[in-house]
Amino acid sequence: MNTPKMPPPSGQPDEPGLARMLWLFVFGFVALTFLLTQQPSAPGATATVSYSEVKTLIRNGDVREVTLEENAIVALLHDQRTDGVLRVRAITPVQPDPTLLPQLEEMGVTVTAQAPRAPSTLIWLLPWILIIAFYFWLSRRMIGGMGGGLGGGLGGMGDFLSGRSSKPAKLTSKVTFADVAGQDEAKREVSELVEFLRDPDRFQRVGATVPHGVLLMGPPGTGKTLLARALAGEADVPFFSTSGSEFVEMFVGVGAGRVRKMFEAARKHAPAIIFIDELDSIGRTRGTGLGGGHDEREQTLNQILAELDGFSAREAVVVLAATNRPDVLDPALLRPGRFDRHVTLSLPDKDARRAILNVHIKGLPLHRDVDLDQVAAGTPGFSGADLKNLLNEAAITTARRRAGDITQADLDEARDKVMMGTVRTLAIQPDERHRLAIHEAGHTAAAFYNPSGDPIYKVTIIPRGRSLGSTHMLPAHDRHTLSEAYLRAQLVTLLAGRAAEKLLLGSVSSGADDDIRRATALARSMVARWGMDPDIGPVDLRDSEDHPFLGQQISKPRSYSDETATRVDQAVIALLQDAEAKAVALIEDHRDQITRLVTRLEAEETLDLTAIRQCLDPDSKIKSFTRNRT
Ligand code: ATP
Repeated sequence: MNTPKMPPPSGQPDEPGLARMLWLFVFGFVALTFLLTQQPSAPGATATVSYSEVKTLIRNGDVREVTLEENAIVALLHDQRTDGVLRVRAITPVQPDPTLLPQLEEMGVTVTAQAPRAPSTLIWLLPWILIIAFYFWLSRRMIGGMGGGLGGGLGGMGDFLSGRSSKPAKLTSKVTFADVAGQDEAKREVSELVEFLRDPDRFQRVGATVPHGVLLMGPPGTGKTLLARALAGEADVPFFSTSGSEFVEMFVGVGAGRVRKMFEAARKHAPAIIFIDELDSIGRTRGTGLGGGHDEREQTLNQILAELDGFSAREAVVVLAATNRPDVLDPALLRPGRFDRHVTLSLPDKDARRAILNVHIKGLPLHRDVDLDQVAAGTPGFSGADLKNLLNEAAITTARRRAGDITQADLDEARDKVMMGTVRTLAIQPDERHRLAIHEAGHTAAAFYNPSGDPIYKVTIIPRGRSLGSTHMLPAHDRHTLSEAYLRAQLVTLLAGRAAEKLLLGSVSSGADDDIRRATALARSMVARWGMDPDIGPVDLRDSEDHPFLGQQISKPRSYSDETATRVDQAVIALLQDAEAKAVALIEDHRDQITRLVTRLEAEETLDLTAIRQCLDPDSKIKSFTRNRT
């Protein structure tokens, strides 16, 4: 999760609270033990002296009375300064002193003996009392945790001590559909439920069955939680929120108990909404866990299924669950009557990104030069959460500059930071820096001179995140299909950095590691997925599949012969060699311009489009590029 969500349900054991309680118990134990083991002392001042000094005082006749304790002697003498009584105390030797009693008798000193103190029964009982108290406290906290999703449970000592309410709290949402930018399809699907939640009787009277379970699917940060909150806000009904991951690592039975409590409370407050985030962490296909099919996760999942089945058509409770791994969900969850309505939230396109920026820009001071359309265009692949983060980073950069307004440069800096990480301070040797400038200039030139690719936007040799330098393209629009010409241009651009090193320095380096990896993956997709090799043709020969939302590759068993695999490999290699040859030719043809670009890049570190154009096309002969930009 990227941004703060609903406040955490109270009543759940939180780490700092637990640590605080443990310390309280330890402190209490030590303090009580100390108090109970202290000898009660008589009123008045007592001076501690050595045993021989006490003996001398007795011998001199200064002592009137002594008290013999188990391992000490307390003598009372006359204080000549104050004319009062002075108490002196000395520890007696381990070896008994046979001369002491005769001497006391001889000097006429009154002797009182004190019986050794029997250790208080409380001392023995104390650890047990504390252990039992701790056990009860912990177990009450666990029960309290059961109602956590409701914003409180039965209330344990933890709740009491931390001052939290033990009453289940209903969360209300002020978010509306207007706060969810883009995602029109998803909003349309969910908005049907608003009517139902606002006036369930109308639907019940005519016997209409409204879906109880809605599964929100989509990549992280696309607004699934936001949409659930917006539904609660629009319908003006209470909202009970929990996350699947909260059920993991609980004692067996606790998760199921919490689910039961949450559904109970929602029914009590109906019409209401239950939102379960990260459903995949509990809703994975059963029977795959290590717990032999009876682990906590499965019990929780079974309870959710039972609760969903238990809804009658009359109950106005809607359960929304969010996941970005629908592929791993237990099929039982998706059956009719359960999470049978599926709403997909996708990554925003350019217009939606612009709309999301509009939502989050409210209240931020923007400089006149800011072009939000350009920000939207330059952030393909960003989720709503990423865009919000970008604006926040830009505001932080502005504050750090001690400026009043967020400028376009702040937004560009924030975009690079969100995309690639922060600028790194890295000691780069001059010859390495020269090679880096040549490498980036190669990419830049290939992107600049190739009208089929994305237009260039800026180039830098400032290390950022994991990369040492970078060349930035700014697609004029979101691409939904990729033409072969565009893909071939991409291959040339990717390999042009290495080609420039080879031609201008006479050798290559490991700096092209990521370029080669990406170029190979792209070439493989062109051959094995998109049928772009004329000899192999349109055959699906992939050995992995894209994850629908997470952009990861999931391997799948190979379903073609070794011979075909060899042909795929050869076609991939041929594509890459062809792209490399084109990159080398391009660098060769523009050697002077690229050398100019390298010099300026080394001097200025970051160059924008104007500077790049001044180096690569001082006479502005390349019209196709300009066409592409506008
Ligand atoms: P995850 O899968 O990581 O739980 P999610 O899909 O639930 O993520 P949210 O938590 O709803 O995403 O989104 C995070 C934040 O991003 C929201 O609080 C909101 O500020 C912003 N956001 C995401 N999508 C949108 C959108 N469409 N319009 C406005 N803001 C959005």
